[in-house]
Amino acid sequence: MGETEKLKDFLFDTKKYGWEGLPDSVKNDIIKFSDEYIHFLNRSKTEREATSFITEILDKNGFVNIKDKMILVPGDKVYYVNREKSVYVAIIGNKPVEAGLNIIGSHIDSPRLDLKPNPLYEDTGFAYFKTHYYGGIKKYQWTTIPLSIHGVIVKANGEKVTINVGEDDNDPIFTITDLLPHLAQEQMEKKLKDSISGEDLNLLIGSIPIGDEKTTERIKLNILKILNDKYGITERDFVSSELELVPAFKARSLGFDRSMVAGYGQDDKVCAYTSLRALLDTVTPAKTAVCIFADKEEIGSMGNTGMESHVFDTFISELLNKTNTNRPNLLDKVFCNSKMLSADVDAGLDPIYASVSEKNNSAYLGKGVGLNKYTGIRGKSGASDANAEFVAQIRNIFESNNISYQVSELGKVDTGGGGTIAYILANKGVDVIDCGVPVLSMHSPYEVTSKFDVYESYKAYRVFWKF
Ligand code: MN
Ligand code: MN
Repeated sequence: MGETEKLKDFLFDTKKYGWEGLPDSVKNDIIKFSDEYIHFLNRSKTEREATSFITEILDKNGFVNIKDKMILVPGDKVYYVNREKSVYVAIIGNKPVEAGLNIIGSHIDSPRLDLKPNPLYEDTGFAYFKTHYYGGIKKYQWTTIPLSIHGVIVKANGEKVTINVGEDDNDPIFTITDLLPHLAQEQMEKKLKDSISGEDLNLLIGSIPIGDEKTTERIKLNILKILNDKYGITERDFVSSELELVPAFKARSLGFDRSMVAGYGQDDKVCAYTSLRALLDTVTPAKTAVCIFADKEEIGSMGNTGMESHVFDTFISELLNKTNTNRPNLLDKVFCNSKMLSADVDAGLDPIYASVSEKNNSAYLGKGVGLNKYTGIRGKSGASDANAEFVAQIRNIFESNNISYQVSELGKVDTGGGGTIAYILANKGVDVIDCGVPVLSMHSPYEVTSKFDVYESYKAYRVFWKF
């Protein structure tokens, strides 16, 4: 390296692609880790399934439900399951809880189509389910793909039936039809956002009638009979159900070089899985380690399973109660002493659509975990904007542990925007920065990540809890 090159190397902040010069041993670790991640994606397409997968792993690794513990001491590992859709986990640190928490928070809900409360109808030889989309989707992406049905139906007597149809190769799948191009002249002239209407996202579920022609709606009747034989339900039971339609295809390795993962729901199950794995590697940290798997992020974090809910505060209060350290107003102080990585995905620069990104402030697939100092829209509206002092601490942790990281914005100024759960914790007094995996085709039925970044985010979360 010449003198000028050396000077440039010293002064410039150049981020390399992580695959560059990576030893085979590390590549193998990355491949193994991503195979396990792909398994998680296929088992956890909804928040309820992610919750049950996560608690199963926690149980196997010595974590216990906080309700079964009366006293907590350093090293204890506990979790709280919020209505089967959200999980909060803690490993009690050597320092008292009031010294502050190191929190990593992701979400386990993803954009999808929900069934309406009165979903079933028949029209001209077909039976359908009416749907209502959940989260920010491009509606046209959800037609003409195989869809599976996941969720629960709760009968009036409280009996709960778990539904999962379309994932097993022997299961039928479902789909939403679209118009043939030959007759789509008018549709094709519409704006992309108007080309498929929300009320037309109707799921095709059957076509065989039963009985004789004296009865009407006999295809609908047949569907209800099939459902009654299998699940013991009637039409009214849909009223108390939560049934979600998600892509039926499986997460897979992407590319001849297998460098990427393609799969549904990586926003934000990629950060959920990597933080879960990092948590399993954490033993008696200095500060209490807290891991959040939130629900309802995609629709604004409202409700009793979203991060706006006080259920999380109650969990932290329980840590104070059960470590025998609680006193009036201590919870506020705990939050003011706490630090958090808001573990949510980042928009990766897509070369095909590079015009929406500003190349010096974009996240690139393969350059490591992405940090967003702020999110928001227009003039940073709605952003919690991390303090420079806190960003310096995080940088220092990552740099001293050789974590590949990149700092980016969500697209060009005034092009759009978005948010995460960061501001909710920041409002409580926590130092928060967004830290997650860059994704292509975000919110689509088939999102893309780099295996390098997936592994790097796992390493980043691991060192954060050691700090
Ligand atoms: Mn997200
Ligand atoms: Mn999202």
